[in-house]
Amino acid sequence: MYSGQQPIFILKEGTERTSGRSAQSNNIAAAKAVADSVRSTLGPKGMDKMLVDSMGDVVITNDGATILKEMDIEHPAAKMIIEIAKTQEQHCYDGTTSAVVIAGELLKRSEDLVEQNVHPTVICEGFRLASDKASELIEAHSIEVDQDMLEEVAKTALTGKSAGAVKEFLADISVRAVLAVAQEVDGETVVDLDDIKVQKRQGSSIKDSSLVDGIILDKERVHSGMPRSVSDAKVALINSAIEVKKTEVDAKIQITDPNMLSQFLDEEEQYLKSLVDKIQDSGASVVICQKGIDDVAQHYMSKAGLFAIRRAKKSDMEALSKATGGRIVTNIDDLSSDDLGSASKVEERKIGESDMVFVTGCPDAKSVSVLLRGGTEHVVDEIRRAFDDAVGVVAVAHEDGVVLTGGGSVTAAISRELRSYAEGIGGREQMAIEAFSGALEVIPRTLAENAGLDPVNTIIDLRKSHSEGKSHFGVNVYEGGVADMKEGRVFEPSRVVEQAIQSASETAVMILRIDDVISSRATPPMPEGGEFDGMGMM
Ligand code: ADP
Ligand code: MG
Repeated sequence: MYSGQQPIFILKEGTERTSGRSAQSNNIAAAKAVADSVRSTLGPKGMDKMLVDSMGDVVITNDGATILKEMDIEHPAAKMIIEIAKTQEQHCYDGTTSAVVIAGELLKRSEDLVEQNVHPTVICEGFRLASDKASELIEAHSIEVDQDMLEEVAKTALTGKSAGAVKEFLADISVRAVLAVAQEVDGETVVDLDDIKVQKRQGSSIKDSSLVDGIILDKERVHSGMPRSVSDAKVALINSAIEVKKTEVDAKIQITDPNMLSQFLDEEEQYLKSLVDKIQDSGASVVICQKGIDDVAQHYMSKAGLFAIRRAKKSDMEALSKATGGRIVTNIDDLSSDDLGSASKVEERKIGESDMVFVTGCPDAKSVSVLLRGGTEHVVDEIRRAFDDAVGVVAVAHEDGVVLTGGGSVTAAISRELRSYAEGIGGREQMAIEAFSGALEVIPRTLAENAGLDPVNTIIDLRKSHSEGKSHFGVNVYEGGVADMKEGRVFEPSRVVEQAIQSASETAVMILRIDDVISSRATPPMPEGGEFDGMGMM
């Protein structure tokens, strides 16, 4: 009776569906490919990548998050791995490559378990137990920081970047910047990185970078007749144009004789002069305007000995208001001496090709600026990324007050401790916890690989040291073998390591739980060997 039964279509035509093992292995392959693409950048001896976008713009970087951001990835599971890097960057500023590499390794090891017929939900449960335990162990391994250690945290973050050559110098700037803006709120140390403004300028050596107690504006004064520098400045912050107002409606003014024209122009000039007079009457010596300043107004300002900048950025106006204590005023008629901010010096200096304005010695100097220099645009950009990492980890370490030893020492220690924890769990979950434990060793192994060392021997040496209770031992990337990372002063914030392990684990679990992929767009097939074009290991 049912011999003529028709198949039922519930999905739109063109929808692609993969399910079961094949969905899983496809997702895992994609995620692993992403992890492999950044692996070679990990650690002090990691290599850089050159990324070229469709417009031909080039970025040279060692930063995991940047690499993944620039790569045009379509596979949905691969995109989840990129999310890890983003989360890591947002919360911890560093450890992006580590997080991605750990996630890749977790997935690789779970594939082996699936092949041994361990159900994905069991693997997920084991991973969850293991990552909870890992957080506990991280806390136990944490060391309280002192100020010297903050500098070493910055140095660890800068090691292996092109900025590594000047890491002492940049580490020093990072620590000073963080300490300058750190505040105690309800007994907790809080660092708002928005209070550290970074300006970059090419055309000089990195060593010319500096920390300025105040704000740097990438602007020059509007008129060369104005003073280059003003001491004990009274600063007016204005966010409307110092120009003749345009009429609301299109008005046509018919001028019939030359006298009328000059009268008309005189009136405009008088109006602008009156604006400048008002500014001067308020007692201001510096004008920072968010909008334009008319040529005629510039002339009067210069005659009055004022220092003025036009078209300042809104964010700079806000920062200036906060630092100088001045109020941003819209209507110049309302400007009074109460609205003015103060700064002990406002000065234009020639930096590289053009001028910049430095506003320093502000009463509420809770904001500082860093001027980063470098030979070329690519250098300055990479210095900027490295500096952001450094300042970020210093802020994190200063806020939390705890760090761990790096170089794979803590991951090796936790890996060892998780192995004995697994024995107490038993059953199939034990296999998953053991896989998790093994996966953490990917950090020291990759550090060794990237340093040109024998990864197997290094792991054997490392396990031996840890079994002898040398829990600070990690990979000696410079001389080979293993070494005490506490003595080597390699420190990183506990938060960076904890977040990396947590988000790697969560994402691996999320990917493992998928056994059905229904996509209205065809998923791009993975290239053979699971690597992206042009993104192979270097
Ligand atoms: P990520 O994006 O994960 O921060 P990095 O390329 O910055 O990647 O490498 C970080 C890893 O390098 C960490 O495991 C850190 O402990 C390690 N590392 C940093 N400095 C040293 C060092 N001097 N010796 C050994 N390992 C180091
Ligand atoms: Mg790093």
